[in-house]
Amino acid sequence: MKKSVVSKEYQNLQKEILLLQEQWKQSLSPDTVKPNPDKAGIAAGVPAAALASIDFDISLFLQWIQEVGELLSRKNPELAEMLGRVQGLLNEETGIRWIDEAFALNVQYFASFAEENNLDGWIPQFLAETALRPYLQLTAEKFQNQISSGVPGTGCPVCGEPVRLAQLEGEGKKVINCPRCLAHWNEKRLSCAHCGNSDHETIRFLTVEGDESSQIQVCEKCKGYTKVIDTRQFISTPSSAMLDLTTIHLDFVAQENGYTPGPSR
Ligand SMILES: [Zn+2]
Ligand SMILES: [Zn+2]
Repeated sequence: MKKSVVSKEYQNLQKEILLLQEQWKQSLSPDTVKPNPDKAGIAAGVPAAALASIDFDISLFLQWIQEVGELLSRKNPELAEMLGRVQGLLNEETGIRWIDEAFALNVQYFASFAEENNLDGWIPQFLAETALRPYLQLTAEKFQNQISSGVPGTGCPVCGEPVRLAQLEGEGKKVINCPRCLAHWNEKRLSCAHCGNSDHETIRFLTVEGDESSQIQVCEKCKGYTKVIDTRQFISTPSSAMLDLTTIHLDFVAQENGYTPGPSR
């Protein structure tokens, strides 16, 4: 895609990580996730993954963290010492904590963990989040056929990630994609995923010169935004995780103009 501000090296690394996550997810038994048929909870916007019972295998989770650490070390040998040290800090107890905090997107917890252990700030959450996603993606697969719409302001109905990405499909139907768990659901073309506003006077579209396939839908009522990508002309459609990454320039434009992706719960 043109206009991407993410380097080829970083995209290639992400591709390898996505591949690993897919393999990890395939290795999980479908019974790992037991849905909880709490219709009222789902209708109120509680993420399905918070309601479901997920049978985490802590030693597997730690093994995945080691695998992604090894991949990062191969690509960036200067990180090898630090990533090696992380392995020594992890045990069953921290593994459980990392799963909980990664699920809750607790930036503060991971920042403190990094500081206390003299690690680069991004490393702990990146590792935990990477190893958590196969579980979220399996949960999304289990729930996908029950998700018809989102609840404005509550983020992804499966994992709670704030909404920021949609694709146009078919006749121009808007489908919101979650780059974290890969769930997707329909939304009215002129509707704000963050506050439910559907007033055409306060919903606007920003465009980026030279990027005909993308729009940034912004809402003047809540100042939220959603990237809307028309992938119908693409030769092959990338996964929503990759599409989110290759359209990061749109996030910069939206945020420079004072808009934010909806706050998570
Ligand atoms: Zn999600
Ligand atoms: Zn809004």
